[in-house]
Amino acid sequence: MKQTCKDQHCPLHNSLKTHGRQFKGTVTEAKAQKTATVEWQRLHYIPKYERYEQRKTRVKAHNPECVDAQKGDIVIVKECRPLSKTKHFVIAEKTGKDVTFLAREHLLQQAHVTETKVQPEQNTEDKHESN
Ligand SMILES: [Zn+2]
Repeated sequence: MKQTCKDQHCPLHNSLKTHGRQFKGTVTEAKAQKTATVEWQRLHYIPKYERYEQRKTRVKAHNPECVDAQKGDIVIVKECRPLSKTKHFVIAEKTGKDVTFLAREHLLQQAHVTETKVQPEQNTEDKHESN
């Protein structure tokens, strides 16, 4: 991790105060500059069935330049003051890679490729002719 950064919303290097809850989740989207979508599962109790149901919570979180979390990273997010209309979490640190998530993404991409491939491959032209 870098020692300094110029990110004004960085909880480590600048004065962004975090408070309240913190969660551990997986980054599912990190396309936007300094914003990541983080998801985690929580158990929701349903009294009628006396059972827990798995639900997903998804938030937008500030992704400071010194953290720079990527898709598939496991991160700790902390609640902070609203940074924009939809952002009131900040990524505090990366703790690892969610291999399950990355494997699933990989499979989904492969499935997508095979689905959209309409014509059979015709790239078996002999290369040694040009030699
Ligand atoms: Zn920083």
